[in-house]
Amino acid sequence: MGTSRRMNGHLSTKHLAELKDKVMAEVERIENKLLSEQLMVVNQTSGDEVDSANDEIIKHAELRFATRESLYLKKLKKTQKHMDSEEYGLCDDCGSAISFQRLKARPTSTMCITCKEESERDELQSFHGRQSKSLGKTISLSK
Ligand SMILES: [Zn+2]
Repeated sequence: MGTSRRMNGHLSTKHLAELKDKVMAEVERIENKLLSEQLMVVNQTSGDEVDSANDEIIKHAELRFATRESLYLKKLKKTQKHMDSEEYGLCDDCGSAISFQRLKARPTSTMCITCKEESERDELQSFHGRQSKSLGKTISLSK
């Protein structure tokens, strides 16, 4: 009883640290990119009006960055929080361990490859209308 085991014990401390570094680097990369774009906007406005225009610029910038990139940033930040919990690295759907290889390729993964493929197949099916399950399997095998 005495020893506490992390739920995501399949990830070694070293691997988890590696994933954390990767996510942090991604966060910095995107934040710097968004920041430099914001600075560009500021530089384009004439000196005196910068202060009063600042709020407007930020609003404008936030609007502009409500894009794929900032959504990804949100996801990364969520992942960072998640990484401090014991559930990181476990599939949201079936609770089984997500492999380090998969997490390394996509640290924001919240589903194991099996569930992910299943849900993508479901999406594909609902997109194309009802298809037989066997057809879905044929697609995933052929890639
Ligand atoms: Zn799963």
